[in-house]
Amino acid sequence: MRHFPVFLDTRESLIVVCGGGACAVAKLRLLLKTEAQVDVFAPEAGPEVEAWAEEGQLNLFRRDATINDIAGAILLYAAHDDEAQDHEVRRLGWAANVPTLIVDNLEASDFITPAIVDRSPVTVAIGTEGSAPVLARKIKAEVEESLPDALGPLTALGRDFRPHAERIPQGRRRRDFWSEFYFDYGPKTLPFGEEAVNDALHAAVARFERDEERPGHVHFVGAGPGDPDLLTLKARNIIHEADVVIHDGLVPQAILELARREATIISVAKSGFGPSWSQDDINALLVEHGASAQVVRLKGGDGGVFGRLDEELDVLAEAEISFSVIPGITAAAAAAAAIGVSLTRRGRNSALQVLTGRDLEGFADHDWEKLAQPDTVAAIYMFRSAAHFICGRLLMHGADETTPVTIVFNASRPDQHVVATTLRELPSAFEGPKGPAVLLFGIAPRDVAARGAHSQRSAALQGA
Ligand code: SAH
Repeated sequence: MRHFPVFLDTRESLIVVCGGGACAVAKLRLLLKTEAQVDVFAPEAGPEVEAWAEEGQLNLFRRDATINDIAGAILLYAAHDDEAQDHEVRRLGWAANVPTLIVDNLEASDFITPAIVDRSPVTVAIGTEGSAPVLARKIKAEVEESLPDALGPLTALGRDFRPHAERIPQGRRRRDFWSEFYFDYGPKTLPFGEEAVNDALHAAVARFERDEERPGHVHFVGAGPGDPDLLTLKARNIIHEADVVIHDGLVPQAILELARREATIISVAKSGFGPSWSQDDINALLVEHGASAQVVRLKGGDGGVFGRLDEELDVLAEAEISFSVIPGITAAAAAAAAIGVSLTRRGRNSALQVLTGRDLEGFADHDWEKLAQPDTVAAIYMFRSAAHFICGRLLMHGADETTPVTIVFNASRPDQHVVATTLRELPSAFEGPKGPAVLLFGIAPRDVAARGAHSQRSAALQGA
């Protein structure tokens, strides 16, 4: 981090801008939001600057600045759009020891002005060390969208109300109180005026003082196949609120980072380095935290698909701990999306089988005869170590060895990789990156399928 962000107090201070053209205007738009006195030095100033001077928003001096003009300023801007003139200002800045910014010259500048989202008193500053202004603009747009306009006035009202809120015990209850204010009744009552908001705040304090401590709760949340954008909104909001997050190995870091900084994050990945968690240990952990905290149990994909969800729900029901289930996008759905085909199709397959290659006993047994039927489509999870076995069983029961098989590794993740093959080639074909992979039996990717259809059509034409 070469540039360290700080918020400067601009009360009773001076900011000097040298230049009066377009470049200066862009900076002045921001600087005029501050409480500083703004002095502009420009032998020739554009109409906006003249107008601001007219309105008394800044002091305009129709000449170049001297060292005396900038002595004591907290910031100095060189915004001439002219290298030689800006260089002169840079020299003044050094001489007077005032932090100086040369517009569009990062190397010669002492600081940078970030992109700003202004919901005063909430201010969000976004910096990319000058390297990606496009990115900064995009982030700014997103932040603006996620911070309601009402946030500014609400924050000001909330700040004044803070002493009253101290009657609510600190920690989760106090956070809940403020969260309801900012995102629920605050925005709703603001249109009725400040007094209405204050009344609502007092009523909420009374309610929070009276109510029992919120009991623990476990949210079972499907984290989806890996791409954080494929989380549901509900999942995102619940993760934000959690006290404790207990997650499987499949859940990527980017999703875990949605949790609050104070949240306790516990990995219960069943393999890999570190201690391995048994299902009993996980169950005990859920009961321990679920008794008093807001717990998010994060599982890859959808918790209800090969996620041992039922077992964990049973344990909580037994312990009389409340829970809810939030579904997620399962790997098969993400894999089908990756190859541009649907999992069912009129005239092709009216059923989809969802299978696992492994179960508690080892290789999972299935109704191979039924699976070997021509129109079968199946999504096979955890198939890697069982690939030979599955292939052998299917062929033994008469499956067509040219049945299309598609393996999608790391569906929806940056290292997503697709292997399109046939049943016959399967055992030798599943070289691919590390990470989870799902096998789609009876489905070819759209481009391969299109080529196949084409060659079938040309064969038919040749036959005619
Ligand atoms: N509950 C999960 C499945 C857990 S079982 C879900 O609904 O997706 C673990 C298996 O899921 C892996 O062995 C793999 O077969 C599959 N899987 C999970 N995430 C995947 C991904 N991003 N890409 C491909 N397969 C995935």
